[in-house]
Amino acid sequence: TRHRPTLAKIEADRGAYKTQSWDAKPLLAVEAEAGEKDPILNPANRNDQVGTVTWATPETVTAAAGAAKVWDASPEERSRILNKIADLYEARYGELFAILHREAGKMLFDAVAEVREAVDFLRYYANRTAGDPPVGTFVCISPWNFPLAIFTGQIAAALAAGNAVLAKPAEQTPLIGWRAAELMHEAGVPREVLQLLPGAGDVGAAMTSTPGVNGVAFTGSTETARLIHASVAKHLEPGAPLIAETGGLNAMIVDSTALPEQAVAAIVESAFQSAGQRCSALRCLYVQEDIAESFLEMLTGAMEALQIGTPWDVSTDVGPVIDAEAHKDITGYIDAARKDGRILKECAVPSDGYFVPPALIRVKGIGDLEREVFGPVLHVATYKAEKLDRVIDDINGTGYGLTFGLQTRIDDRVQHVSERIEAGNIYVNRNQIGAIVGSQPFGGEGLSGTGPKAGGPLYVDRFRRHTADMSGESWSG
Ligand code: NAD
Repeated sequence: TRHRPTLAKIEADRGAYKTQSWDAKPLLAVEAEAGEKDPILNPANRNDQVGTVTWATPETVTAAAGAAKVWDASPEERSRILNKIADLYEARYGELFAILHREAGKMLFDAVAEVREAVDFLRYYANRTAGDPPVGTFVCISPWNFPLAIFTGQIAAALAAGNAVLAKPAEQTPLIGWRAAELMHEAGVPREVLQLLPGAGDVGAAMTSTPGVNGVAFTGSTETARLIHASVAKHLEPGAPLIAETGGLNAMIVDSTALPEQAVAAIVESAFQSAGQRCSALRCLYVQEDIAESFLEMLTGAMEALQIGTPWDVSTDVGPVIDAEAHKDITGYIDAARKDGRILKECAVPSDGYFVPPALIRVKGIGDLEREVFGPVLHVATYKAEKLDRVIDDINGTGYGLTFGLQTRIDDRVQHVSERIEAGNIYVNRNQIGAIVGSQPFGGEGLSGTGPKAGGPLYVDRFRRHTADMSGESWSG
């Protein structure tokens, strides 16, 4: 039974959690000393204390790894329990939305999509529990930007194959990870099979170097993936799997035959929803020169209409960025562009909370982007029709290969461009977003990730021993 609640029902179900607070802590199969306790504050309103977290320490990691046991339940039983977790997520969506709004700054549409995606991962991997034996103890390290969907997807795949899991939510979002892990235990995943270790990079580093760990699934930045790659090579058994899904510098090409309304809607959603804090987010737009003036006028008009505010409000399109560090980084980047006179449009934002103005910045090409700026910042360049192949080369030249979008009504061009672009996920005449579990698996190439794609048929096999040849798919960015 799938929940399709009305807005009134959503309001009622999440309303109960508007002022609740949650206390996250390590969930372990053994007694172990924990670390310090810190408050978790709402990124949209720093007066709202959403809860507290008691951190794990590197010693907690050692104790957890020692107590971990692979899941000896039958494939049918594992499947039943994974589906049961999905049922619990669906039943508790009001609480999950409230934590996603207040801890992660996710507006309603994002919260709905995130719970949906997490449920889809659980049910999809629940159908893939039969197969080769598990690797052993898998470490799952996730980012804050999809703190429920990615956290759940990694764990669900590792559990589907029967691994023991040591899971670390990101330090910015321990509450949603802790609540999700509690629901997994409630559904019947044994304590020694799934342990939760809230912590920052030091805890993550301990997890990827602790004896007893046999494999690592990581989603986060390319820089962190490099550190983990080195740690795995140094500390784990040779050949230990490292599944890494990392960052991107994602482009879209809009040619003169594109439907402008469709293209603008896709661009605004891809660049600014989730305040641009998606790995899939559009970062660099190429508009064909002939239509650039009228097209950019339409785009800036659409930006003007964005509602920027607290994620709890149903009318909000863009919420805050995750924390003080992100706020400083992104506003500093926009300030520098303003000084250079390269800002084409900048929205107004509330003054309290970590709000960053959605901004449109002129560039010559994607080569001007030195790094992934993880916020609502869209760069735009124009191109001449005869230089299309040059644009494709420039996009491929970044070394990343996560998402790419194309807006055109010429069939041959779809073929020409998509054959040449090196990206894990190509979106034609639509918004440029992440996974659609089961029908559009998600993952990157080059500096953006290892594959196999999450939400696709091969993903769970990566969490098993003696699987089909997966060579060449360990992260080496
Ligand atoms: P991050 O790399 O800073 O952190 C990710 C996780 O790694 C966190 O849990 C963090 O505590 C942990 N970590 C940090 N240092 C570590 C270390 N030395 N050893 C082990 N673990 C360590 O990334 P973030 O800021 O949380 O997330 C944003 C990034 O994630 C962006 O680059 C984004 O593009 C990327 N991302 C990629 C995908 C994808 O599917 N390709 C999806 C979402 C996010």
